[in-house]
Amino acid sequence: MNCRETIERLYTFLDRELSEAEVAEVQRHLEACPPCVNMFKFEASVKRLVKRCCGEERAPDALRERVQKVLRQYP
Ligand SMILES: [Zn+2]
Repeated sequence: MNCRETIERLYTFLDRELSEAEVAEVQRHLEACPPCVNMFKFEASVKRLVKRCCGEERAPDALRERVQKVLRQYP
């Protein structure tokens, strides 16, 4: 799995909608790729914050937009 594929799965991963095998693949990539870890930590913390403040279960639009932006950096 490359960085782009990992980030594409980030959303789903945050929402716990991936299969166990997919989660394992994402985690394996994260172990070897510090930039993706930073991205993941940021998104996870944003989501936790949103959840605590608003009781929101789904990723907010701002988070969605940020991931789209990051995805554009990967050809
Ligand atoms: Zn990566």
